[in-house]
Amino acid sequence: MSSGNISILIIYTGGTIGMKQNPETGALVPFNFEQIEQEVPELKKFGYRLNTYSFDPPIDSSDITPDFWVKLALLIRDSYPKYDGFVILHGTDTMSFTASALSFMLEGLTKPVVLTGSQLPIGMLRTDGKENLISAIEIAAARQNNQAMVPEVTIFFENRLYRGNRTTKHNAEHFNAFRSDNYPPLAEAGISIRFNFPFIHYPTQQQDLVVHTTMDSSIAVLKLFPGITPNVVEAILNTKGIHAVILETYGSGNALTQKWFLSLLRKAISNNIVVYNVTQCKAGGVDMEKYENGLALKKIGVVSGSDITYEAAVAKLMFLLGKGYRGRLLAAELAKSIAGEITMK
Ligand code: ASP
Repeated sequence: MSSGNISILIIYTGGTIGMKQNPETGALVPFNFEQIEQEVPELKKFGYRLNTYSFDPPIDSSDITPDFWVKLALLIRDSYPKYDGFVILHGTDTMSFTASALSFMLEGLTKPVVLTGSQLPIGMLRTDGKENLISAIEIAAARQNNQAMVPEVTIFFENRLYRGNRTTKHNAEHFNAFRSDNYPPLAEAGISIRFNFPFIHYPTQQQDLVVHTTMDSSIAVLKLFPGITPNVVEAILNTKGIHAVILETYGSGNALTQKWFLSLLRKAISNNIVVYNVTQCKAGGVDMEKYENGLALKKIGVVSGSDITYEAAVAKLMFLLGKGYRGRLLAAELAKSIAGEITMK
């Protein structure tokens, strides 16, 4: 395929990349896509066919909702036959959640979906937005042997491409805002873009895209801290209507072993609420057999999150609940890798 035949859809959702200062408050607010096009005349130099779609109004990604993910997934489904790749411009605050959700919702993906954004608006002299956007387009268009170089949902930021559902925003200030501590980058952009082929997932056969559009957000999060009280734990576990709780534990999945705590967890589990153990650490994962404190959780039926990120855990639960899984069946699905979000031992 010659470069002139490659077509990319740029989807603009909002985020700092397209923001401008509100003259009254001095705070950044999202602006429309034309501004980005004006600031990046380089877009015209690409030999590819570039089309854009803007969400109206563009949003700060802190306002993202599962309904918005559904709109994104449907947009990709409907434009899938017409494009070879997709670039999504998105705020950094919740980019890892969106990338995780899309990785589950877009089953059988054979085309690149690259999310990017910036720490400084594209209109500013020192913006990181231009580099990010240009490299993301190049990656979305990269092909070899008639197939996409990275047919996954990814995040490109600063100079690295990551599997989206392995990322976390770890820096609110530096240009390298994202990390993927439990999975190597899929590519690094220097003078040329070097792809890390052994770590990129390639479909073994030609498959059709199946888009899943039901996300169920009846979940809660219980983040442990020394001194947490029974009132707090009870309030969270008794939240009306929830089917699962992410238990954010210490280290390799450890928690307090006081009687009141274990008995509240046991009660929730017996009420068919899945307690999903996700570590507060950014690197490494849960191993409930390593310490007695972890083992106590395993014995009462807490489910291991392995090396999943918090962001991917949220999206995975919503996805599986949306498919109707509950209780033991949900626990069994959580142990499987859907889109490379956990390391299978
Ligand atoms: N608040 C912004 C957003 O997530 C931050 C950013 O884009 O970097 O939309």
